[in-house]
Amino acid sequence: MRPALKAARVPLLAPEFGGGFRVARQESLWASGLGAIIQLVKISQLGEFGLIDRVAKKIATAAGRQPEVWGPVKIGIGDDAAVWEASPGLQLATTDTLVQDVHFSLDTAGWDDLGWKALAVNVSDVGAMGGVPRYALVTLALPPATSVEDIERLYDGMLEAARAYNVAIVGGDMVTAPIVVITVGLWGVHSEGSLLTRSGARPGDEIAVTGRIGDSAGGLAAFKGEGQPSPEASAYMKKAHLRPKPRLAEGQALARLGVKAAIDISDGLVADLGHICEASNVSAVVRVDALPVSMQLQEALGDRATEKALFGGEDYELLFTAPQALMQAVKASLECPVTVIGEVVPAGPAKVDLLDRNGRILPWGKGGWDHFAPGR
Ligand SMILES: [Mg+2]
Repeated sequence: MRPALKAARVPLLAPEFGGGFRVARQESLWASGLGAIIQLVKISQLGEFGLIDRVAKKIATAAGRQPEVWGPVKIGIGDDAAVWEASPGLQLATTDTLVQDVHFSLDTAGWDDLGWKALAVNVSDVGAMGGVPRYALVTLALPPATSVEDIERLYDGMLEAARAYNVAIVGGDMVTAPIVVITVGLWGVHSEGSLLTRSGARPGDEIAVTGRIGDSAGGLAAFKGEGQPSPEASAYMKKAHLRPKPRLAEGQALARLGVKAAIDISDGLVADLGHICEASNVSAVVRVDALPVSMQLQEALGDRATEKALFGGEDYELLFTAPQALMQAVKASLECPVTVIGEVVPAGPAKVDLLDRNGRILPWGKGGWDHFAPGR
C-alpha cells in the first residue's frame, strides 16, 4: 500500500539546506514534491521536498511487498503523524541513535550499511523483549553537502532490513546538521509467551548466549589495522560489525518457551549481564573458557579474542537466563548455537564474576561501552 503523500504545512528546512547550520524545529516535514533525482546531486541542491518525495517513493515501492505489516496503516508519510490500527495486546516502543564519529565512521561504513544497522539495532531491542517489530520512524540529521545518492543507498540498506524483519517505515523527519545522525524509533507488539525482561533472572538459572560473541569488536579492530586476520576472517568480522543480524526469531522462540530474562548484547557481554544482575537483584558467574568465540576472531586476535568477547559489544546476540530444564528445551528448539557460559547466583551486591578454567576469579576493570565515561 502506498503511503499517503500530502503537502506539509510549512517548508521547514529549505533555507538551511542551502546554507549554514542551525538547529531545525522538530516538526514533521515529510511531504510530497516534484524533485527529480540526478545522481550525485547534493541534497541542498535537490531540496527538501524533492528528497522526501524520492524517499517516500522508495518506501512505497517496498511497501507493496509487505501487505501484512502495511495493511493496518491508515496514514503513512505525508501528514502530521502516522496512523495505524493497533492490534490488541502489549505494545512495545524503542529508539536508538547512531552518531557519526561516535558510533560509526563514514571511512569504514557504507551508507547502505548504516541504513541496515540503524534499523537492525532497534529490531534487536524488540526481539530481546520477545516482541514483533511493526512500525518505524526515521529521523536523519544530514550535512547539506551529503549527496542524494548516499541517502538513496542509506534507504536501500534500511529497506533491506525492513523487509527482512517485516517493518513498515511510516514517517520521520529530516534536519540539517554538521554531522550525520540517524535516529530510528520502532514500535512493536508482544503477542505470544512471556515478556523477556532484564529483571527476570533468578538464582540457579543458567546464563547463555546465542551465536558467537566478539566478532563485531573484531571487525572494528580489523578496520583499525589491529591483529593479523586473513582476508576472509577480516571480511567476516567487518560484516559482523557493519551488518549485525538481530536474533528476532530466536527472541520470539525464547518467549514462547517461557524464558523470562534476556537482553541483546549491545554494550558488551559483561556490561549487559551487569544490567540483568542489577535489574534482577542477582549476581552472575561466567566461565571465560566457555565463551563462544569464532575461529576467525581467535585467529585474528589470539589471546585478545576473549577480551573482545567480554567487553566488545555490538554483537546483537541474545544473552538470557533460564532454569536448567528450560535451557535444555531452548537448546533443542533454537537452530542457532546456544552456549551456556555461567550461572546466576544470589546477589550481594549485584556483580559479574569472571572465572578462569581453574575456577579462579579474574580481575577486570570497567569493561563494555560506557557512553558517559570520561576519556572515551
Ligand atoms: Mg538492548
